[in-house]
Formats: sequence, C-alpha cells, structure tokens
Amino acid sequence: MNTQFPQPHTGSYYAATANSKEEYPVLEGAEDCDVCIVGGGFTGISSALELTERGYKVVVVEANRVSWGASGRNGGQLIGGISGESKLHKAQGKDMSDLFWDMHWAGNEIVKSRVEKYKIDCDLKSGYIDVATRPRHIRELEEYCEELQKKQFPFETRMVTKEACVNELGTDHYLGGMVNMANGHLHPLNLCQGEATAAVEQGAKIFEQSPVIRIEHGNRPKVFTDKGYVESNFVILAGNAYHMLEKRYTGGVVFPAGSYIIATEPLSEELQKEIVPADMAVCEMNHVLNYYRLSADKRMLFGGRCNYSGRDPASIKDSMLPRMLEIYPQLKGLKIDYEWGGKIGIVINRVPHLGQISNNIYFAQGYSGHGVNVTHLVGQILADAISGTSERFDIFAKVKHHRIPGGRVVGNNLVALGMLYFRMLDLLP
Ligand SMILES: Cc1cc2nc3c(=O)[nH]c(=O)nc-3n(C[C@H](O)[C@H](O)[C@H](O)COP(=O)(O)OP(=O)(O)OC[C@H]3O[C@@H](n4cnc5c(N)ncnc54)[C@H](O)[C@@H]3O)c2cc1C
Repeated sequence: MNTQFPQPHTGSYYAATANSKEEYPVLEGAEDCDVCIVGGGFTGISSALELTERGYKVVVVEANRVSWGASGRNGGQLIGGISGESKLHKAQGKDMSDLFWDMHWAGNEIVKSRVEKYKIDCDLKSGYIDVATRPRHIRELEEYCEELQKKQFPFETRMVTKEACVNELGTDHYLGGMVNMANGHLHPLNLCQGEATAAVEQGAKIFEQSPVIRIEHGNRPKVFTDKGYVESNFVILAGNAYHMLEKRYTGGVVFPAGSYIIATEPLSEELQKEIVPADMAVCEMNHVLNYYRLSADKRMLFGGRCNYSGRDPASIKDSMLPRMLEIYPQLKGLKIDYEWGGKIGIVINRVPHLGQISNNIYFAQGYSGHGVNVTHLVGQILADAISGTSERFDIFAKVKHHRIPGGRVVGNNLVALGMLYFRMLDLLP
C-alpha cells in the first residue's frame, strides 16, 4: 500500500458515488484554535462535530482527503458493541454493566441521530444478521438473543434457522443466524463527508492534503505541516492505522492489516429477490471473516480477508471472488466494477487504544475492524474528556496493552502468527 501523502480517494464504489466533491484548502501559515485534530476519518470528524456542537473552536488537519482512510473504504456495517468489550469490562474493578450497556449502543445512536439532525444522505438502513459457520456460534447467538430479550431490547432480534437462512440470505452456507434490527448499514464515505460539512457549518475549519509532520509539545502544542502550523489548547491524534506520529507513545500497539472489498455490477431484479431480499448487512462470526451487503443501487459489496504483510494482493478481485462465489455461486459471471482495500488498526487484545501523551494531547486508534459505531462513541468520549468529564475515557485509558517493540515489521509478523492461531480457532466446531 502506498503511504506517500497526499493521495486522492481510492478507486472504491464509495468514492465513485460520493455526494460531495467538496475540497478543503491546504493548511498554509498559522492557525489558532481550542482543539486541533490530526486525521479526517470518523474518529477525527466525529470528534470535531461533537466539539463544535459544544462551542469549541476546532481545526482538522487531514493528510489526504476527508474520509480517505478506513472510514471511506469500509464495509459500511453499523454494528453495536466494542471490540474487546469483555476484556474492557474485566479491567474494571467494579460492576459497570449499565455504563457498558449504554456504550455498547451509543455509537449506533449517535450515527442515527446525526443522519437525522443534519439530513445526511448516506443510504442508512436498519437490518443486520450475524451468521454462524460453527455450532458454537449458534449457542453464542442464542445466549446473546436471550440476553437482549431479557433486557427488553427495543429493537427486533430473532434467531434464524439453517433452513430459514436459505430464504433470508439466498445461500445454504450457514448453520443459522441472528437478526438484529438495531444494527444496519450505510455509505460510510457519504456519512463522514456529511458530518464534515455539518462540523464546518458549526464553525470548524478543515484542511486537506496537509500531512502533519511533527508536533511540538507544550502549554499550547503546535501541529506542523510543511506549509503551516496550528497552535491549540488540545490536540487529538486520529490517524489510526495510517499515521506514524508520536510513535514513542502510540507505537507498538496498533498494527495495520489490509482488508478488501469487491463490488459487483447491480444485481438483476431476479437476483435481488433471492440474495438478502430484506437488504440486511451480513457478517460471519469467525475471527477471519467475510462481511457483505447490497449497496443502495443493489450491487453486492463483498468484503473480507486480512493481510498483515503490508502488501496488497496482486489482484484484489482474484483474491476475493472465489470467497464470494463459494457462498453465492449464482453471482458467477457478474462483472466486478470496483475493487479496493484499506487498513484496519488491529490491537492485540482487541480493545481500542485510547490515551494521553500529555495533559493536552490525546489519541484514539485501533478499533480492530469494528469502528463505524465505536469511532462515534469515541468522538463523544474525547469531547467529554476535553470538557473535563473523563469517566468513560479512563475506562479505556487504564486498559493495559501489549506493546511489541521492534516496529511494525516485527509486530505485524507476530500479529500474523496470532491470526493463524485465530484461524485455527475458527475451525473448531
Ligand atoms: C476494508 C475495511 C472494511 C471495514 N469494515 C467495517 C465495517 O463494516 N464496520 C465497522 O464497524 N468497521 C469496519 N472497518 C473499520 C473502520 O472502517 C475503522 O475502524 C474506522 O473507519 C477508523 O476510523 P479512523 O478515523 O480512526 O481512521 P481512518 O478512517 O483510517 O482515518 C485516519 C485518517 O488520518 C489521516 N492521517 C494519517 N496520518 C496523518 C498525518 N500525519 N497528518 C494528517 N492526517 C493523517 C489519514 O489520511 C486518514 O484519513 C473496516 C475497515 C476497512 C479497512
């Protein structure tokens, strides 16, 4: 993957169907604000919107384009919950079930309410199914479904048998699944750009094509690009798997893994009736998983595969197509109109890595492939922390992370070994 900045959007289905072609200026000269945010993905933009709504003067500095990274390339699956949640819970000395329950769903709610409040056109749709490939997945789903029903969860949740899966999904590949209507799917690039527009309307400034090259710490830290700088009371580092800044503090914990998506041509009406006719997002329960859904214009967006080598496959299409056809042989012969990949920030214990480099420099990274909802929760948590309420921030910040010395090459090899172990776990019944 080319990491020379600045770059245009990748050739994804999302970039081709973006609502806005708006470009923000390059940072030149000096800027002064309350909070400077480095990185214009969901973490950066959702924090910016949250902070501007609270009256802070915010500047976002993005190396490429708003939503250029994972936020504009992902599967678009809006799934409640936090990666590594049980470990996060365990790290607390006391029972905080209610707070965790709220955090589990808060990201989804923030996305839904912003889409409504700012009228963001991002194809947001309810409907999601976890699908089981092993008998133990069914047991896990049954327990989860029961738990939700006991809590009188206000959204429809139901188990789906193997036979019913054939009607609901158009494949006999799965042992069953669980539908959860609190989750859903959306066009992530249009969501992120829509939130950026809302933040700017509230008074935030955004600079694009402005890679940050260093940060000068102090009472009022300075964030430098090669053409200018931003001086502020607080800095948030939101570069996730793509940034190389402040590695002394943020390095050795998050490892970039490539994940890839292909988009077919739009399905015929006949295929639309057969393949996920209720238009749900579908996600397998394996550690190394396939995830897919139909786009608004009824293409199959099929994603998966994790690659820790730092090199993309020679052909994303050749690598992904057999996986899709194994589940949906009826899609054979359809043209693949788009193929792309992006970097997921994987953390060894899977818990998102939030912390402080100093009293006024925060960072948030490493959602382990589960970031559409969590980045929105994190934007709120960071805004709370900057406003002086750090209860939820501290829950994340006090989690002990395994730090792997020796840089990304050693780290990625170790994580790849770890994933082999998880692949073997996936094979257990
Ligand atoms: C292919 C793929 C599929 C996925 N599918 C899903 C899914 O279906 N559901 C889900 O919940 N999650 C999914 N994820 C994960 C999710 O997309 C991420 O967790 C989330 O987008 C992370 O957002 P972010 O803002 O932290 O990082 P990013 O979106 O990666 O943004 C980081 C930004 O920082 C900028 N940056 C980096 N360095 C600098 C610098 N020096 N100066 C200025 N700017 C800098 C980058 O240019 C980039 O725009 C997927 C990820 C990938 C890659």
